[in-house]
Amino acid sequence: MAERKTQYCFIRDPEFAWLPAIKEGNNNTHAQVKVPQYKDEQSIVCDGGKTAKGWEEDEVPLSDYNKGVLPMQNVNASGDLKSFPDMVNLPFLHEAGILYNLKDRHGNGKPYTRTGDIIIAVNPFQWFKEIYTEKVRSRYARILVWENTEGDPRSQMEPHVYETSALSYKGLAFDGGDQSILVSGESGAGKTETVKICMNHIASCQQGPRSSSSEMSPVVQRVLESNPLLEAFGNAKTVRNDNSSRFGKYIQLQFDKGDKGQQEFRSREKATCVLAGSKCEAYLLEKNRVVSHEAAERTFHIFYQIVAAKDKSKYWNKLAGTTNESFRFVGKTDTDTIEGMKDADHFANTVRVLEEIGVSGDRLMTLMQAIIIVMQLGNITFVPDSKDDDHSVIASQREFSDLCELMCVPEASMEVALTERTMKTRNETYKVPLNPAKALEATESFAKEIYGRAFLWLVRCINDATAAEINYKSGTMSDFGIIGLLDIFGFESFVRNRFEQLCINYCNEKLQQKFTEDIFRSVQEEYEREGIPLDEIKYDDNTDVLDLIEGKTGLLAMLNEECVRPKGADMAFVQKAIAANKKSPCLFENKINRMGFGIHHYAGKVMYDAEGFVDSNQDTLPTDLADAALLSSNEILAKHMNNDSCMNFTGKAPSDEDKKGAPKRAKSNIVAPTVWTKYKGQLMSLMTMLKKTNSRYIRCIKPNKLKKPVIMEHMSAIEQLRCAGVVAAVTLSRSAFPNRLENSVVRFKFWQLWDPDRFPSKATSSMQPAEKARCDCEAILTCALKPLEEINPKTGKPYTIFVVGKTRSYFKMGALEFLESHRSAG
Ligand code: ATP
Ligand code: MG
Repeated sequence: MAERKTQYCFIRDPEFAWLPAIKEGNNNTHAQVKVPQYKDEQSIVCDGGKTAKGWEEDEVPLSDYNKGVLPMQNVNASGDLKSFPDMVNLPFLHEAGILYNLKDRHGNGKPYTRTGDIIIAVNPFQWFKEIYTEKVRSRYARILVWENTEGDPRSQMEPHVYETSALSYKGLAFDGGDQSILVSGESGAGKTETVKICMNHIASCQQGPRSSSSEMSPVVQRVLESNPLLEAFGNAKTVRNDNSSRFGKYIQLQFDKGDKGQQEFRSREKATCVLAGSKCEAYLLEKNRVVSHEAAERTFHIFYQIVAAKDKSKYWNKLAGTTNESFRFVGKTDTDTIEGMKDADHFANTVRVLEEIGVSGDRLMTLMQAIIIVMQLGNITFVPDSKDDDHSVIASQREFSDLCELMCVPEASMEVALTERTMKTRNETYKVPLNPAKALEATESFAKEIYGRAFLWLVRCINDATAAEINYKSGTMSDFGIIGLLDIFGFESFVRNRFEQLCINYCNEKLQQKFTEDIFRSVQEEYEREGIPLDEIKYDDNTDVLDLIEGKTGLLAMLNEECVRPKGADMAFVQKAIAANKKSPCLFENKINRMGFGIHHYAGKVMYDAEGFVDSNQDTLPTDLADAALLSSNEILAKHMNNDSCMNFTGKAPSDEDKKGAPKRAKSNIVAPTVWTKYKGQLMSLMTMLKKTNSRYIRCIKPNKLKKPVIMEHMSAIEQLRCAGVVAAVTLSRSAFPNRLENSVVRFKFWQLWDPDRFPSKATSSMQPAEKARCDCEAILTCALKPLEEINPKTGKPYTIFVVGKTRSYFKMGALEFLESHRSAG
């Protein structure tokens, strides 16, 4: 046999995950592997700021092939990696291949990469203006929506989120079904920006094939402008992202699909599908941030905006002369600029947009004063009563008087509400005093509650101003088509994981389940298109984890149960949950911390700390404070406090059916659904809605923690690809046939391995080129892969090693490597 030539590969590395290497020699058990010094040092900087250089040659056992060494085929003659806009075309689609493909594109100013129908968006941390111009926008709309192209028009275009938005619009306008775009990724990965980019594009797609007008209708403008508004009240600066969304959102863009007659005779020329409005649903606002935040972070933007506002005394005369430090909940911050704009200018913009959606005059005052009340609550302090340590008295008398004046609530009522708690038993009602710590806790929960209600109030105002059924003249809701955009927290795993992380990760499990089903369906469709038997696709689903979390004796049912017990405790919850789920493969105990437990999520193991679970799940306001709020002249406090504003998707209050399973709260006798019950209801209706749509996926990746351009940290990128299900999607789509090549490429590369006399091609001169290529590949591969053939003793026929589809050839594990090594040996 001829001497083996150099082969390119990736080798596993503890620091850089994978490094490109050259494998040499013809030893059958070991290979000499050389790692070339990477040319562009900057692009290979990893977490610790080190670079991969000074690598020695290393001998790697070939038995490790799948673990430690992965084949690399996409190299050009000079040894440089060739990158693919669509990763489906990577001959070897594995973790290392995906990583280097994305890295190469990211480093070359191409943030978007496709893998089949999924767009992977690597945050560039610098605005490439040239990829978001009006011209680019209309090109994607024209080619993908309006032109009738043969085949897949995307193959001539760079991957872009504009293709996701254009195809969604097209799906709605021409196929008629509701659509959705699901955007995921960790904090700072670019979800919110991506959703805005898509929304803007969708709004411009409707202008039709020939229109170039960039003029926006007022409704489109309102819909787009609701974004900065939600950001002012729902976003904050965190260590991971200066403009981090501290809530999840699902925005439904509503389109008027025209009259019924036209729908039936829809044509590219005539289709009208006009943006008529939008509706937004918010999930899990991080209310805790109202009362405390890390020193390097900030609370919600709106607080700094109000303090910085030039005309702040208009909202409350006592704001004159105050600074951030005047308010405990706000405090010192090292920046007054977010996204290049000063807090004061942001405020002017916030007010302008509020007025545009009708929150002006008294309503504007109501909203701003609710926010100021929250700030002022943070300045209330308590000391023990000199006569009795268990009682407390208000220490900050002036601040307290100001607060009561602002709330328009008599001081006496407010004082009692903050320092005492009413207890009810079957026969009597009595009051117990609160010590200073407890009084402070009550004050903080009051502040959080007011802020949460103010946020929901705002969401409702936005919906009132933008919802098509309210604002659009013609038609009822059923006439509207929907494109939904989901911008929701990605999978989280921190050093300490709490109730909030469990809620977030539960949501991600739900979305992952849908993602897997969708990918499975698309693989099925691909196989059908290519004419390949379907029986070989297998995949892991995550029903086990979902069962553990939401099942009958699942973690959250157990937690709800614990919240009904008079002395419900975190520890008891953990013990009961473990006892009830002994058989679950996804739950494990924490032997060191009895308050801890672990879950095997689809994205990996997460350890949770149950301390505070019972309280976090209850999150109900003491009746005394809810009653005091009722006395206020501020509508947000008075109307929305006791009135449960947990809306389900149709905007209706929860029905009795929804409330089933909502435990009575024993501690203060308020009948309230737990946080978990409300959240689960919200998620269920979200999933029901999503199921009715045709979903497309955008996976956002944060390339580095420094928030800097070009740099790609390998380990964390791989982790994110795994969490986003990208690797799983690839594994699923390749479970039957891990490798694939276009038929034309197979013929070009491997014709030397073909003996046409023994294995003649069935191609004839009258055939189309694609059909010819298919016949030739059939013959070439049958010949070239003959040495690998093994007979299945059960059937007496050879096992399948490859299948030639209409446009691509699909290979079982090892077959393509075999071809490649024989080609290079030839
Ligand atoms: P979080 O979960 O914290 O809300 P996120 O995924 O919504 O995070 P974004 O706020 O969308 O993240 O993005 C973070 C930052 O990344 C933006 O403020 C912006 O500076 C940058 N960024 C995001 N997308 C792009 C893009 N397409 N081009 C350039 N920069 C971007
Ligand atoms: Mg965001």
